[in-house]
Amino acid sequence: MNARGLRPLVAATAAALIVSGCSTTTGGTPAPGTPRSTITSTSSSATTTTSTTTTAPAGMQPFSTPAAIFADVKAYWETSDANVDTGVTLVSDPDAPTCSGGDFENSTAAMCGDSYTGQVVYSEPKMAELLSQPHGPMAATLVLSHEYGHAIQRYAGEFVGGASGPIRNGVKGIELSADCLSGFYVNAREFDPAEVTAALPLTTIGRNPTRTDAFNAGMRLTDPTTCFSNYS
Ligand SMILES: [Zn+2]
Repeated sequence: MNARGLRPLVAATAAALIVSGCSTTTGGTPAPGTPRSTITSTSSSATTTTSTTTTAPAGMQPFSTPAAIFADVKAYWETSDANVDTGVTLVSDPDAPTCSGGDFENSTAAMCGDSYTGQVVYSEPKMAELLSQPHGPMAATLVLSHEYGHAIQRYAGEFVGGASGPIRNGVKGIELSADCLSGFYVNAREFDPAEVTAALPLTTIGRNPTRTDAFNAGMRLTDPTTCFSNYS
């Protein structure tokens, strides 16, 4: 399983700090990045089952803490055929996520930095509020797996040089791609489809039809690189 996947080519330069908004309302502007990998299609190595939201039985329940949620997202991508092995860590912020060059005042979480030393930063109060709601843990899973989608993009050398992809109904391709990768993870882990459906409206993904479409498309894919090619 480790011969395929999204493999880095060369080490990134530490100076290539990339900051990207993580909802359609954030003002973060991606800085020029450093391409460092090519994409190896995994179309011959499907990692998911044929489960769909309509046929899958009640499945895995979400983890209840940001740390556990993030750990599973990262572990999935490391152990899947995609073989995405980043150094990205999860950190909390007592206020709003802060990244150099980005404004994430209204964001629950943001991906900061590169795929080697970067961080997914979440707002403690916003995350606590989310987790306290019914279906909150699943919603937090969608949020954090979306942010990790940005780490995957950087690991794979996608959307570099400030590229954000074509705008679709007002949403940047880079965001739709991350939504797609979130859906891919959720399907691969076989989370309870009813829980996913209930949690989506709590997130910016579920409140935007174009983003919901990208998430649902990711749930149906067998090759995660399609989450790049469809939105770049
Ligand atoms: Zn995002």
